[in-house]
Amino acid sequence: MKPSPLRIHRPTTIDETLDLLSEHAASGKVLAGGQSLVPVLNMRLAAPSDLIDITAVSGLDELSVAGAEGRAEITVGATVTHRQVERSEEVAVANPILGEALSFVAHPAIRNRGTTVGSIAHADPNGEIPMILALTGGRVEVRSTRGQRTLSAEELNIGPLETSLESDELITRATFPALPAGSRAGFDELARRSGDYGLAGVGMILDVEGATVKGLHCGFISVTDVPEVLNLGEAVSGAHLRDASEVADTVVDAVRDFIDPGGDIHATADYRRHLTGVITSRLFRRLCRTDSAQGRNTDSRMTGTDTERRRV
Ligand SMILES: Cc1cc2nc3c(=O)[nH]c(=O)nc-3n(C[C@H](O)[C@H](O)[C@H](O)COP(=O)(O)OP(=O)(O)OC[C@H]3O[C@@H](n4cnc5c(N)ncnc54)[C@H](O)[C@@H]3O)c2cc1C
Repeated sequence: MKPSPLRIHRPTTIDETLDLLSEHAASGKVLAGGQSLVPVLNMRLAAPSDLIDITAVSGLDELSVAGAEGRAEITVGATVTHRQVERSEEVAVANPILGEALSFVAHPAIRNRGTTVGSIAHADPNGEIPMILALTGGRVEVRSTRGQRTLSAEELNIGPLETSLESDELITRATFPALPAGSRAGFDELARRSGDYGLAGVGMILDVEGATVKGLHCGFISVTDVPEVLNLGEAVSGAHLRDASEVADTVVDAVRDFIDPGGDIHATADYRRHLTGVITSRLFRRLCRTDSAQGRNTDSRMTGTDTERRRV
């Protein structure tokens, strides 16, 4: 199918973009990489009268890591692609879980066009990046002709595919804090075919001091309506890393209680709950035996199932 007739605007400045968004607030839409919006238009699930293509807008292409040690932040502008973020060495050092999760987003061809901020604006509960924004305590900067505001992931995400953005607002950039020293972080998911959205996925940040676990935060994809962060600090604090196997069951039980998966043609709710537990257990054990700071995996990727996703 083809989209219904529409006008495409190609502004080159942020001010011009905001004016267009204000003028077409009733039926206009931002077009970034188009990797989510264009299929929606082609299937006529949406029929905006005007698309405001931001790909030529100057000042939206910043990808940087800045700030003093312990307070560094990654800034990702609205036109920065998934692939640029995934491939950034600086990002990998500051916040390794971001690049790791990005490697699971669709295929390289889609990551070459799709933007990380577009993913956040799309707010798909199956998407990796809205969850990573929530898990790492990130935020977005939002602008319109009426002013500017900053929203946390919690303030932004109000339902599946639904955000608190007004129709004339543009997310100009997302900010992801660097992970604190001593933390180990990882992400994993399981999808039926390479490039598909995960049936279930887990992101985890483990705080460690010496060989003692101090805290644990988990985020999930495809099993909650909006990105929610589960703090399991009380359950794991004080455990020795070598006792991961004993603690893992407690973590898995808490996670399975917390999530609220739905069933569909791809998987039943029970299967997603089971799968989330399995991924949680493996990821937790992996982080507990990782040697280096910030969760760099010293093992090869998890093995075990034919359906497992591979990094490409
Ligand atoms: C085959 C396929 C597989 C995919 N698999 C995955 C996957 O596994 N995981 C995953 O997370 N994603 C997946 N995606 C989606 C992909 O990651 C998209 O790139 C991403 O969701 C949206 O980014 P975009 O730049 O393409 O945004 P667009 O498609 O251009 O826009 C998406 C939505 O966000 C709005 N928007 C975009 N930018 C802004 C902004 N700056 N301010 C305000 N609103 C904005 C648009 O108006 C639109 O409503 C897949 C896509 C395809 C086609």
